[in-house]
Amino acid sequence: MTEKNCVILYGNTIITMDKDRQILKNAAIKIVKDRIVEIGTKKKLIASNPEASVIGSENFMVIPGLINAHQHLTGDRLIQSCIPSSIKDTEAIFDWSVPIHASHSPEDDEISATLSLAESVRCGITFTVEAGTVAFPEMVLKGFETVGVGGSIGSWGWDIGDGPYADSTDGVIERQLQVIELTKNHPSVKGWVTLVGHDLMSDDLLQRASNLARDNLTNLTFHLSPHAGEASKYLEKTGMRPVSHINELGVLGSHVLIGHAVHLDNSELETLLHSNTAVASSPWAYLKLGQGITKFGRHPEFLSKGGRLCLGCDTENAGDSKDLLLTARLFAGLMQEAQLEIDKPTAQYALELITIGGAEALGLKEEIGSIEIGKRADMVLIDTSGPSWQPLAPDPVMQLIWGASSSDIDSVIVGGKLIVEGKKCKNFDELGLTDEAKSRQKNLLKSAGLNPRSYWPITTY
Ligand SMILES: [Zn+2]
Repeated sequence: MTEKNCVILYGNTIITMDKDRQILKNAAIKIVKDRIVEIGTKKKLIASNPEASVIGSENFMVIPGLINAHQHLTGDRLIQSCIPSSIKDTEAIFDWSVPIHASHSPEDDEISATLSLAESVRCGITFTVEAGTVAFPEMVLKGFETVGVGGSIGSWGWDIGDGPYADSTDGVIERQLQVIELTKNHPSVKGWVTLVGHDLMSDDLLQRASNLARDNLTNLTFHLSPHAGEASKYLEKTGMRPVSHINELGVLGSHVLIGHAVHLDNSELETLLHSNTAVASSPWAYLKLGQGITKFGRHPEFLSKGGRLCLGCDTENAGDSKDLLLTARLFAGLMQEAQLEIDKPTAQYALELITIGGAEALGLKEEIGSIEIGKRADMVLIDTSGPSWQPLAPDPVMQLIWGASSSDIDSVIVGGKLIVEGKKCKNFDELGLTDEAKSRQKNLLKSAGLNPRSYWPITTY
């Protein structure tokens, strides 16, 4: 018997990230429409499905689609690597990123999200959590659809200060409702409630946003404590540290994903653990912005104590790239450095964070994050034929996290569809975006009054 839309996928190694963390050899995966329906012997599956399309190579390592749990899809993307690294983190955000966001047109949002998601999927990222600074969610949704990946999307949410799209509490809640409505019937993109966070949200907004997320069976995400200054501001205003204050408001829980939470005291760490609140760590951003991750960060400890942690790449002038494998490697290094008592090697932790562990932190472990029957067919095929892979190591996870490069990713399947093949996006013309990105960068910098320069002289002959 043959089925329509049937694909058989195989490689030399399949890292499933299932409950038992099985790694399969001589195996193949059968996909019908957008789901994994069978996993079995390669020979048998190919023979019993003669009309299926077969995708694979004995050189491929197959892993689940990767999950980027904190990513700004607009704003910095079109001025990537433009903000000087010599300035303070708050200056980079409020004197550069925020004015650029304020200058974005709907078309800037679409091109920015498309570029960002295209870059992401070529690095194996099949699900992206937009971190909540989008002016035109319907245009960002178009970017998701053009590239063909899944994710969540939010909109600006702050009711303190006068930043772009800052609004009354009612106004912010209304914007959030509109995003939930926009994505109500979407098969792969979900509206989340997204606040900017930090100290730019009133207690009332935070409580209403948390209830809105709970009532609509979706998630709430916001930024908190990437640097030490936030704790002092909260202490001055409320007499409590940020996480403790927010906990008093009754907003924490398994539906909440806090971006950062780098600076935590013991009591805040315990609160996050006990309330089952998830944390998205973007370690490259903390390093690039000099926010103290190596001296004060407690994400490895949070994870080792059973905390719901996931990894993100954050915005372009913080992390600068969407290389999630490299982010996972950095996190494995931070865990090594922390010298904690842990129950498995750091590489295994790192791979979990960007696959099944990430999915669990986002409340999506039944849908994505592993190669298992019934799950969405999101998978990454890595070419292991190059010299850097020779000879293959006995532990493929160790080699993947410590030794592999995202440039070895050959193909990516999302929802059963091959959307990256031979390192190129198939759904649209990547090169077609080049000129447009260039002119939009120029216009944005001009309208925001910013003038980045090369540190070393550039001479045009
Ligand atoms: Zn962020």
